[in-house]
Amino acid sequence: MSKTVAVIGSGPAGLIAAERLAAAGHAVTVFDRMPSPGRKFLLAGRGGLNLTHTEPYDDFVARYAEAAPRLRPVLDAFRPEDLVDWAEDLGEPTFEGTSGRVFPKSFKASPLLRKWLARLDGLGVRLMLRRRWTGWTADGALRFDGPEGEEIVRADAVLLALGGASWPRMGSDGAWMTILAEAGVPIAPLRPANMGFDVAWSAIMREKFAGEPIKRAFFSHKGRAVRGEAVVTETGIEGGAIYALSAALRETIAAEGAAELLVDLRPDMAEDRIAERLAVPRGKASQATFLHRAAGLAPVGIALMRESTSGPLPSDPRALARLVKAVPVRLSGMRPIDRAISTAGGVRLDAVDDNLMLKALPGVFVAGEMLDWEAPTGGYLLTACFATGARAAEGIAGLSNHPSLRATAKQSG
Ligand SMILES: Cc1cc2nc3c(=O)[nH]c(=O)nc-3n(C[C@H](O)[C@H](O)[C@H](O)COP(=O)(O)OP(=O)(O)OC[C@H]3O[C@@H](n4cnc5c(N)ncnc54)[C@H](O)[C@@H]3O)c2cc1C
Repeated sequence: MSKTVAVIGSGPAGLIAAERLAAAGHAVTVFDRMPSPGRKFLLAGRGGLNLTHTEPYDDFVARYAEAAPRLRPVLDAFRPEDLVDWAEDLGEPTFEGTSGRVFPKSFKASPLLRKWLARLDGLGVRLMLRRRWTGWTADGALRFDGPEGEEIVRADAVLLALGGASWPRMGSDGAWMTILAEAGVPIAPLRPANMGFDVAWSAIMREKFAGEPIKRAFFSHKGRAVRGEAVVTETGIEGGAIYALSAALRETIAAEGAAELLVDLRPDMAEDRIAERLAVPRGKASQATFLHRAAGLAPVGIALMRESTSGPLPSDPRALARLVKAVPVRLSGMRPIDRAISTAGGVRLDAVDDNLMLKALPGVFVAGEMLDWEAPTGGYLLTACFATGARAAEGIAGLSNHPSLRATAKQSG
C-alpha cells in the first residue's frame, strides 16, 4: 500500500530515505527550512567529501564506540561498500585516499548532490524548501512555518532527519530538541564532536604559528594515541588527529576543567636515538637550527616545546629528547558546538525501536546525526547518516501492518 511520507530535513539521511521510499512507490515530500537542500553535505564537500572508509568492517563498526552495538545491524544492511556502489551508480566514481578513506573522484559534493536531486525528481519526490518544522497540531498533523505563514501537513508517516547542531548557518540548529523533549522523547544533551580545543598560546605562538600544521606526529591523551596531523590556530589546536581524540578530551575537560594532550614530534625515532643525536656539540648554530638538524624538528614543533616549558628548553640531551617524545599541551576548553564538525548527543538510541521509530510517537522515525551516536572523521559520519536513513525508510515502508500506524492515521484524519 502506498503511503504519504513527510521527510523533514534534506541532508544525506533524509534524502537517502526519500530515494528508497519513492523507489518503492510511496508519495514522498521532503521539507527543509533552508532555501536550498543539503547545505551541510555541500560544506562537507569542501574537504573532499570523505564518504566512507575501507578498514576491516569490525574496526569500522567499533568507531561508533558505545553506539556500536545498536548501530551494527543498521550498518550491516547498508555497509561502507553499499555507499560506494550507490555513489558509483549515481555516476560519481570514488577512490581510496590515504589510510583507507573513500572520496568521490570529483572530490566535491556538488556534482553528486546535483545528480541525486535529479534522480529524486525523476522518482517524483517533492521538495518543499523554506519550511521550518515547528511541531504538531493537537490532532497530530505537522506544522511548518512557510513563506506565507503556517502550513499544516498530514502524512501517514514522518521521518525527522534534522541533523545535529553544528554549523547552524547550514540549517541544522538543534531547535528540534525542545519540540521532541516536550513530546516526551528522551534526549541526551547536544555537545560538540570533532572540534578544536582552546590553548592559552603566547603572543609569539599566535602571531608566528597560527595556521601551521604539525605533521606526522603522534597525539595522545590518557593512553589513547593517534598518528596524524593537527593545526595550530589563533585560539588553540584542531585537525584530524585532534578530532579523533576529541570525545575523550571533551569528557576530561568536563570532569577536570582542562585536559593534557601529549605530542610525540618524532614518532618514528626512539628517545635514546634522539638523545644521542642531541648530544653532539651545537657549535655556533642557533638552538632552532641545531634542533632542526639534529632531530629533524620543524619550527612549529620547536615552538610547541618552548610553549610547554616556562623557562628555556632543557640543556640535558636526555631531558630534551624526552620532551620531543611527549610535549605536553594544556587544553583549557573546547570550541563551541557551532564550529564543530559534528554533534554528540541527540535522540537516545533506547528511545527508538529497531526501525528507528520513536517509541513515544508511533509513525515518527528519526535518522542521521540527530540520533545519539558519535564517531571520528574519516567517513563514519556520512556512512551512519546514510545507513540510518535507509533503515528508517525500510521501517516506514514496512509499517502497513503496524497497529500504531493505524492509530496515527486515524488521529491525523
Ligand atoms: C565542515 C564539515 C565537514 C564535514 N566533512 C565530512 C566528511 O568529509 N565526511 C563525513 O562523513 N562527514 C562530514 N561532515 C559531517 C556530515 O556533513 C554530517 O554528519 C551530515 O551532513 C549529517 O547529515 P544529516 O542528514 O543527519 O543532517 P544535515 O546534513 O545536518 O541535514 C539536516 C537538514 O535538516 C534541516 N532542518 C533542521 N531543522 C529543521 C526544521 N526545524 N525544519 C525544517 N528543516 C530543518 C536543515 O536545514 C538541514 O538541511 C562534515 C561536517 C562539517 C560541518
